[in-house]
Amino acid sequence: MIFIGVGSNLGDRWKAFSDAWQYLLSVGIEVIQSSPIYETYPWGEREQPLYLNAVWQVTTHLSPEALLETLQAIEQSLGRPPSVRPRWGARIIDLDLLAYGAEIRCTPTLTLPHPWIPHRPFVLGPWNDLAPYFYLPPWKATVNELWQRCHSSGWGHRVPPPQGIPLPMTPSKPTQHAGNPSFPPASEPSKPEIQAKLSLCWKKP
Ligand code: ADP
Ligand code: MG
Repeated sequence: MIFIGVGSNLGDRWKAFSDAWQYLLSVGIEVIQSSPIYETYPWGEREQPLYLNAVWQVTTHLSPEALLETLQAIEQSLGRPPSVRPRWGARIIDLDLLAYGAEIRCTPTLTLPHPWIPHRPFVLGPWNDLAPYFYLPPWKATVNELWQRCHSSGWGHRVPPPQGIPLPMTPSKPTQHAGNPSFPPASEPSKPEIQAKLSLCWKKP
């Protein structure tokens, strides 16, 4: 199961979501379901407009690296400059690769699962609506467990999409089998030296 975190807090935020979805479709990446969309308070840089955030589950034959490149191409095509300063500043669209099945990466350009997951209610809240049982090996926890640990009040609220804006479908209930039952994988790192390397990649909850 592949999950993308979507965010926007500049310009027409709904249109940015819609355009990102259409772009994904046009390159053969199908959004099979979307979480409800939330309006959330900025994280990191506080002095900026409110965000819309959602999590999308997608299917693709692209590798994680190629998928990230595609997401970055979409960000740029929708008008986001290649490097946003300050780091967590306002953006037309932000597409983060949250998790790609059981894949683990720790390279300068791609960390998988996304390193900031445990600290971001605007990711965990919508993701918990979509796939609460999805397991994240770096933290030995499901989305729901991380969500309960990070739960902060007043981080945001669900907002209904305006009429006439095409957006991917939101299921009324979380998918029953939204977990990844093959986890923890047989290959889960256990040696101390590997664990030490991993702790450099992922932030502790
Ligand atoms: P953030 O999304 O954390 O607010 P940015 O979108 O500005 O911040 O960060 C993008 C940078 O993070 C890119 O240089 C990209 O290579 C790197 N990166 C590492 N892992 C991931 C990932 N799983 N998903 C998206 N970007 C990632
Ligand atoms: Mg990003």
